[in-house]
Amino acid sequence: MESIVEEIRQCTRCPLCATRNKVVPGEGPLNAKIIIIGEGPGEENDKTGRPFVGRGGQILDRFLMQVGLNREELYLTNIIKCRMPHNATPSKNIVEKCITFLDAQIKVISPKVIITLGLPAAKAILDNATLKLSDLKNRVFQRGNIKVICTYHPSSIRYNKNASQDIINSLMIAKGLSNEE
Ligand code: SF4
Repeated sequence: MESIVEEIRQCTRCPLCATRNKVVPGEGPLNAKIIIIGEGPGEENDKTGRPFVGRGGQILDRFLMQVGLNREELYLTNIIKCRMPHNATPSKNIVEKCITFLDAQIKVISPKVIITLGLPAAKAILDNATLKLSDLKNRVFQRGNIKVICTYHPSSIRYNKNASQDIINSLMIAKGLSNEE
């Protein structure tokens, strides 16, 4: 993982290397049973180099606590490792350039479950550009031998009143799957 992180720090594969303050490779134990994957770093993440520490991160922490998941036991990262200006959705081209870092991280951690937050993360992880998040609710997908659960991004609870319950349900499903033998 150290060499992957170093490669991310040096990365100039896409134009975001010119506008980022800090890369946000991800954090958590390398033996995590669950990886949580968001769309990309936000403003606070870009300042600190840490994932999910802004407002979205605080909401996520609250949901994790509600379902009895300990953030310290999870690996948290994003599809892309540098902030998009104005938090725009990353283009297909940028995701394609960056996703090899995430693929390598998943290989190192080899989790039982991946949870994607938000549609761009679901599309990238399931490699399907036509997905709609509403079609993914309460479903368990496979990526090789890893189970994949897709839900809303925690920030979406501001405009989608159903998102909170969906996120909680998804986290509970993921927790159950991660404890299966
Ligand atoms: S977003 Fe990814 S591909 Fe682009 S510069 Fe950052 S690490 Fe490299």
